[in-house]
Amino acid sequence: MAEETLFTKIIKREIPADILYEDEDCICIKDIAPQAPTHVLLIPRKPIPRLCDASADDQALLGSLMLRAGDIARQLGIDEAYRLIINNGAGAGQTVFHLHLHLLAGKEFSEGGMGF
Ligand code: AMP
Repeated sequence: MAEETLFTKIIKREIPADILYEDEDCICIKDIAPQAPTHVLLIPRKPIPRLCDASADDQALLGSLMLRAGDIARQLGIDEAYRLIINNGAGAGQTVFHLHLHLLAGKEFSEGGMGF
């Protein structure tokens, strides 16, 4: 059996984290090394390693993550300007192989730029 991911350990309360929200599909935590004044991670309970590992069975889950991201942005008062990022694969900067969305806000993002 594959080893539990860091985020599964957080979901199971085996590792502490600053949890902002959770429901039957996902959990939202503060990033431990924030790259912006607001930097939270939205993580499905299902440990899909990378976005490219998701299948058609995950369609509803992926959709609900997008909607939850919008809800959380509203709750945090950042819904006018935020950036959602998914790093897919080590070459793209992924370090935790359990799918997650970065939700960042509160800083000036370069116009049209993709950098943090
Ligand atoms: P990525 O590089 O896209 O895989 O993102 C992984 C993110 O997880 C990084 O932004 C890390 O700062 C964050 N991270 C790592 N460990 C923890 C932790 N224990 N609690 C919260 N965030 C974490």
